[in-house]
Amino acid sequence: MTERNFIKDALLGVATGDALGVPVEFRSRTSLIKDPVTGMRGYGTHRQPAGTWSDDSSLTFCLAEMLCGQYDLKNLANRFVNWKEYSYWTPHGNVFDIGMTTAEAIMRLQTSIQPTLAGGTTEGSNGNGSLMRILPLLFYIKDMPIEQRFKHVQEVSSLTHAHLRSVNACFIYLELALAILNGQSKDDAYKTVCHELTDFLQNEEAHHFGDILSGQLPQYPLEKIHGTGYVLRTLEAAIWCLLNTGSYSEAVLQAVNLGNDTDTTAAVTGGLAGLVYGWETIPADWLNVLAKRDAIDQLIANLQAKIYG
Ligand SMILES: [Mg+2]
Repeated sequence: MTERNFIKDALLGVATGDALGVPVEFRSRTSLIKDPVTGMRGYGTHRQPAGTWSDDSSLTFCLAEMLCGQYDLKNLANRFVNWKEYSYWTPHGNVFDIGMTTAEAIMRLQTSIQPTLAGGTTEGSNGNGSLMRILPLLFYIKDMPIEQRFKHVQEVSSLTHAHLRSVNACFIYLELALAILNGQSKDDAYKTVCHELTDFLQNEEAHHFGDILSGQLPQYPLEKIHGTGYVLRTLEAAIWCLLNTGSYSEAVLQAVNLGNDTDTTAAVTGGLAGLVYGWETIPADWLNVLAKRDAIDQLIANLQAKIYG
């Protein structure tokens, strides 16, 4: 067996899921039941060629790139600004998808504001916009104590999403990814997170995550799972899709076919599924059409060299 490349698993997992969802973003579940996504499609919602990933992957790549150098939130903020204003890290030179909370926060990042003070702090600013881009942070925090891991997750989320509910969602997601990275099966990793975070997460927003941390989420019926843009629903959907399927492609297609915020649900699911099954299990005809594949591979190599030397 060849040595695992977890950074490649994570980044290609996110981008492939994102690209699968882009052509059907905002489509309802009912409409996707009649016309389910089974592979890479072109055009549709955003009129982009097959393999086009969106803001989820762009901002994920910005974070991965910052982590190739020093951990520096101002540097990350500048990359976000460059993405929004100058189409940095876009597949075809334009930004066609951006969330409102993210757009407003990036406008604040263009001022002299401290980066961690730019993100939305109201209850209404709990879209999935920081969850969708947080995964590369895993590789920076993986060997730190849990309090330090939480602190860094809070900082990186807060550039766009500073409300504690978004921070908690990102933290649970990365703790699940960490347990997988440490060699646990997906079911054991979920049990570990339920057990450990029920103790650790004691802040005033923790009660919103009761369903996720109950250990019962995978048994919920499909009708209780929603692929909406609300961070809590996205995290529930991603974990549910991961735990109720048996391969990368099954997990991300299930996520897309939940409907609504298809690209982000599949990106968040795809990051975890990539770590579980390995990037080699992503269908080759999906990977072959992924936009900017050479640039992504170079980024993966750079982060690999920085983290694993
Ligand atoms: Mg998107």
